[in-house]
Amino acid sequence: MIQADLHIHTVYSLDSSLTPKALVEKMVAHSFIKVAAVTDHDTVKGLGITQKLASAFPDILIVPGVEISTPEGDLLVLGTEEMPVKPFTLDCVLDFAEERDCVSVVAHPYREHGMGDLARNYNVDAIEILNGVSSPQANELARDLARSMHLPGLAGSDAHQASEVLSVYNQIQSSFDIDSLLKSLKKGLVTTHSVARSIHF
Ligand SMILES: [Zn+2]
Repeated sequence: MIQADLHIHTVYSLDSSLTPKALVEKMVAHSFIKVAAVTDHDTVKGLGITQKLASAFPDILIVPGVEISTPEGDLLVLGTEEMPVKPFTLDCVLDFAEERDCVSVVAHPYREHGMGDLARNYNVDAIEILNGVSSPQANELARDLARSMHLPGLAGSDAHQASEVLSVYNQIQSSFDIDSLLKSLKKGLVTTHSVARSIHF
């Protein structure tokens, strides 16, 4: 069983103040959340440095990823160290994710830049049902969406600063490696949890 925050922005997102060093320090200091996905906005430039810093600590793991701004809404692609080619239409990015066995996740569907009900028309792998900076109402709607689409629901802090990192996490039935983690997410072997309020969804 592993615990992972699957939605984090570093300074490479431009709208985040979280340095790769601060992220790694947070993970090292945390008692049980030892896995985190770096999902910067439309870039994978922060992955290399973050993975390099993390490699000094065998008990933490960085999942490569990216949050793509598509015209239809934001989509997380977990498991890629490369960018899709432009244009970033939802169809193209989903094809890219499928070809590489990545996990495609509808980010914060009922918030700004979210896909909302449009997600129902697409073949995505999962829905983000517990976003650390979304309102409880928006997360509730996202949970309903995941339920009605029979898709796994995931958690991500969506941190843009150090104080927001690891506020929520996924408990995943997986071994401590990225391939196993991605497969388990697709199978729905995951539950979402909030650290701050200890509420289990
Ligand atoms: Zn985000």
